[in-house]
Amino acid sequence: MSEKSRLFYQTRLRRPVLDRAEGIYLWDKSGKRYIDGSSGAMVCNIGHSNPNVLAAMSRQMEKSTFGYRLHFETEASEQLAARTADLSPPGFDRVFFVSGGSEATESAIKLARQYALARGAASRWKVISRIPSYHGATLGALALTGYGPLTDPFAPMMREMPKIPAPRAYLDGLDPALTATGHHYADMLEAEILKQGPETVLGFIVEPVGGASTGALVPPAGYMERVREICDRYGVLMINDEVMCGGGRTGRFFAGDLWGVEPDIIAISKGFGAGYAPLGAVTAHGRIVDTVLDAGGFAHGFTYAGNPLACAAGVAVIDEIHRLDLMTNAEKMGALLKARLFGLAERYPFIGDVRGAGLLLAFELVADRATMTPLPTALNAYLRLVDIAYENGLILYSRRTRGGISGDHFLVCPPMIVTESDIDEIVGLLITSLDRFA
Ligand code: PLP
Repeated sequence: MSEKSRLFYQTRLRRPVLDRAEGIYLWDKSGKRYIDGSSGAMVCNIGHSNPNVLAAMSRQMEKSTFGYRLHFETEASEQLAARTADLSPPGFDRVFFVSGGSEATESAIKLARQYALARGAASRWKVISRIPSYHGATLGALALTGYGPLTDPFAPMMREMPKIPAPRAYLDGLDPALTATGHHYADMLEAEILKQGPETVLGFIVEPVGGASTGALVPPAGYMERVREICDRYGVLMINDEVMCGGGRTGRFFAGDLWGVEPDIIAISKGFGAGYAPLGAVTAHGRIVDTVLDAGGFAHGFTYAGNPLACAAGVAVIDEIHRLDLMTNAEKMGALLKARLFGLAERYPFIGDVRGAGLLLAFELVADRATMTPLPTALNAYLRLVDIAYENGLILYSRRTRGGISGDHFLVCPPMIVTESDIDEIVGLLITSLDRFA
């Protein structure tokens, strides 16, 4: 790419031009092949160019590509709402469509707020979240995000929201007896609710399995259950941000199902449209939606919400997940890949931790495993290893949580269609890349 491009994203970094994609592979214009080891940004869960999804989209395109939601219902949006409700916890029988993850979390908190208003609890507006966390780029969702480099520049433009630490026992160096269960960390939620005044707290938003911010953090046993109890005790809504972990890659359509704990509201996006269309949704228990609708309606919405083409893609994605039994495959292949990542940790002393659920997996690089001391910031390890892997034809997703609270972590999250031999190839490329990095 020598010519000056007219488009821009976060940085001046330029990547090759994508030509085509199929299954777990992508090819750039020069013909170089890459394995999509992170499903983009944990999006393309069922792989690229699935013929049944493309055919369903093509059929929908021939009928209509837009129907404004205040003018028409569409078969595609009705079908997707029904499919989503079938996969959701009991009583979650209403679905509100959006076009992405930030819109989903933003809509979730606005639904929560309107529910409180409808019940005469106008004093409740604070949504407690965790550090680190990521809930989206729009100002409402960003106010919930626990990641200073992204939030600090906009602090004067946002209402500050309370935050508690995410349960990262592997970093905190606490007495293992204290962190064997998640109670120690969940009880921080109770302390924060009491500090803020329960009558001011609207909700608690949590990524059941962490995404990019924590690098696939799985909460310790008992954490989600205790969070539920605490939310119930103080009338606080539990909002699960399943934007990244939802959609099947943990082995369950909603990662929260791993603990059988039912939240009040769920936000979903990435794997929902699976890269075929910009799509997301908020689903909530019927008592919440009905209360809001009975009180005059949900004062919120986006022009592209419920877009028939996006919804047709979403229906076909769910059908393919079922037809190919991809959640079972995610569980099986995830266990295999995780074991192989633990194998890499034996080989490379600078891998400090391996974690995750199903095919939402990560490893973290550190300077000293015993103390979990991060690698020096100046090393920019999170970019270096990604670049080396990229050159080797493997795409990884990395993030460095700055501020001395974490090291450099790398998400290894291939599409749920991966086979054992694909995993051999991914691990082989990881070894070649880590050897060069070392
Ligand atoms: N919530 C979580 C947990 C995410 O991982 C993301 C994106 O990475 C978002 C919200 C925001 O989604 P989007 O980038 O589609 O707006």
